Amino acid sequence: MKRNLIIIGSGPAAWTAAIYAARANLAPLLFEGAISAENQAKNTLPMGQLALTSEVENFPGFPAGDLSEYLKSAIDPDRLSYLPPHSKEGVSGPELVELMRQQAINFGTEIISEDVVQLNAEARPFALVASDEETYEAHAVIIATGASANWLGLPSEEKFKNRGVSACAVCDGALPRFRNHPVAVVGGGDSALEDANYLTQFASEVLLIHRRDEFRASKIMVDRTLRNEKIKPFYSYVVKEVLGDDSAGVVGVKLESVKDGSETILDVSGLFVLIGHTPNTAFLDGVVDLDEKKYVRWVQPGRTFTSVPGIFAAGDCADSIYRQANTAAATGCMAALDAEHWLRENMD
Ligand code: NAP
Repeated sequence: MKRNLIIIGSGPAAWTAAIYAARANLAPLLFEGAISAENQAKNTLPMGQLALTSEVENFPGFPAGDLSEYLKSAIDPDRLSYLPPHSKEGVSGPELVELMRQQAINFGTEIISEDVVQLNAEARPFALVASDEETYEAHAVIIATGASANWLGLPSEEKFKNRGVSACAVCDGALPRFRNHPVAVVGGGDSALEDANYLTQFASEVLLIHRRDEFRASKIMVDRTLRNEKIKPFYSYVVKEVLGDDSAGVVGVKLESVKDGSETILDVSGLFVLIGHTPNTAFLDGVVDLDEKKYVRWVQPGRTFTSVPGIFAAGDCADSIYRQANTAAATGCMAALDAEHWLRENMD
């Protein structure tokens, strides 16, 4: 069956696009991704990066408060049972994205729990092959596949994710476990240095670990960082192990000098891994224009058009700068409105 619109993704951009498209009577079909070992290893399981964060304190409309009864009334009990226990401090990332999913369903979004592995942008309608090997057709497509934070790849890092190890300072930096304690940041780019500065609002001290003796970040950012008395750089070190235990979470990191192999232990309550992101666009190479870092290129300022008319992009797969749930939701809304308008102009 030919669809008006297929949406690929299951983070805030995808669900917001689905809510708008469903309410515009486009009967969207949404591929939320498959639960597979491969996706688990790549951190690309359904529901995106929000599903990997703890409390979300900066999404408007969710101030701190006990949402237990609301969650029970809004979300399917089966799905609710898979969520981590409600913290009563406000909304968690998994809760927030689950609420978005439910809202999209309420307006008639159809969901398939598979990945899209191929998109034929030359066919009309567009042809999409899913991981179930079925082919689906649509007159318009919204790509909202997100991006995945790069990780160091240490088993101890994996063990303490959400218990002191984070890839998002803006999301997690103000949490109580980091307040008035030393924290470590690894990375030497603008993200690491900007977020190291951001974290000094909360942490007693920020220990900035970089694998070379010169930061990659812009000069202005380096100067600001070196002037900040709460930031202590550790040049030419790599993180060898995250130290911690089951009750306390992270209590330190073990570093190794790349110069002489010597080891140093830092006592910290958290490690922020800020070593770049990879957009989830591997299946789009040669299909729509990607930039040099493989983000989908928006071809007109202020719009969500890609290089292929009828294919739109929203959220972190096209945004290497802001990467927030709020901005993803906003561009998801824009993509649905752009798609609706394009369908009206181009289809009978
Ligand atoms: P990035 O520029 O690619 O920097 C990544 C950093 O992580 C590099 O310093 C790199 O080290 C380090 N790194 C990579 N893999 C590592 C590993 N396995 N172990 C240890 N360190 C590792 O990424 P980004 O900082 O996220 O920035 C992405 C883009 O957004 C950049 O163009 C940046 O300018 C831009 N941005 C701009 C702003 C701003 O203007 N306010 C803020 C944030 C980001 P090496 O240097 O040794 O390669």
